[in-house]
This record gives sequence, C-alpha cells and structure tokens, in this order.
Amino acid sequence: MVTDLQQQISNVLAVGEATTGAAVSEGDLLRTAVEFANTPALRGVLLHVPGLKLPRSIAEDSLARGLDLSLHISGDPELSSVRERYREDLTAVIEAGSDALPARTISRLKQAAARIVLIPRYAFTNGDLRVRYHYLPESLEAALAYSVLLLRDNSRPFRADFARCKLERCSRFFFRSDTAKGQSRQRQFYCCDDHMLEKHRATGALRVQRHRAKKASAAKHK
Ligand SMILES: [Zn+2]
Repeated sequence: MVTDLQQQISNVLAVGEATTGAAVSEGDLLRTAVEFANTPALRGVLLHVPGLKLPRSIAEDSLARGLDLSLHISGDPELSSVRERYREDLTAVIEAGSDALPARTISRLKQAAARIVLIPRYAFTNGDLRVRYHYLPESLEAALAYSVLLLRDNSRPFRADFARCKLERCSRFFFRSDTAKGQSRQRQFYCCDDHMLEKHRATGALRVQRHRAKKASAAKHK
C-alpha cells in the first residue's frame, strides 16, 4: 500500500528526475549565489528557481547547446530587492567574522532557508565519490538564504574561505581558495593581484601625501 506521505515524497523525487539542470555540489551552489551578489544576473542553478519569467524552452535550448545562459534582473524591482538584501546579508557575514549575526537576521534566514528540497546524486570517478544535489528551492530567497547559512556553518569549509575585496571600487565577494592559493597574507584580502597593487599604490600615495603635509606643517611652525 502506498501511503499519502510516500506518494508526496515520490512526487518531489519526480521533480528531481524531470529537472533540466545539472546536479551541483554545495560549493558550486554557493559560488553561483555569491556571483549573483557580484553581478545582477541569474545563472546556472539559480535559473531553475520557480517563478522566474524565463521561458523554459530557452533554458532547455541553451543547456542543450552548452551555452552559459544568464538572466539580467536589473529591470525587475522585486528580484533587485531580493538581491540587495542578499548583498546586505553577505556584508553582515563578512563584518561579523567569527561573531554572531544579529538574532533577527538569523531568524529570517532560518525560516527562508528551510524552504528548499535537496535531492542527492552520486558521481563516482575512479572510485572517488562526489555527492551533488538537485536543489529545489521554493523561491530565489530560499536559495540565497540557504547559501548564507552554508557560509556560516563551522563544519563546512566555506566560512574561513569567504572574503570581500578590499579595493573599494571592486568590493567583490569571493573565495580565497579560488584565487589566492599559497599567496601572501595581504593577497588574501583581494580578489586578484591587480586590485592588491592598485590599493597599495593608492594607500602608498596617501602615505606620501600625509608625510609631505606633516613636513610642511612642521616647517611652518619652525
Ligand atoms: Zn577586487
């Protein structure tokens, strides 16, 4: 006998079978979400969130042709405000460091991030297993809130790896392990070498200016 609960679970699993998107790892989901904070366009797994005004045929066609489809959201005030809040959440994560996030933020994130279903897929390569998932979020908010909580989970590798470029005009969110393997401590705070050098040149120039101003004012008072 098939119970109602079994039937409901089968229905959800069938959504996983029918999905056109590839199963992805937690790290991939997180990077796709963080990239959305950097650039106002939805890509990859975020394109499969229900309710987006993206014709399914376009999504399937571009997947079949191996195209990297992205959906710009600048013209959509609702999605733009979801993105703005996500950027605020990521900023709060960076600023909190190892401190707690505000209780209200945590409570909102927990509630939103519970609205997602994960269906596992198992890929063996030479005997090595990688577990990936079809992520079925109820909404874009649910997927993004889930990614913020992944970042905060101490048992996962993302928390210490997550950073924001210290060059103000960039301010991109990024993962150190993606850009700065084995590099200097300073470099860990920048998304790329160029931005570290640009910032150092700018602060170096500032230091010279201050030094000159000090010297000038000292000379005046002689
Ligand atoms: Zn940068």
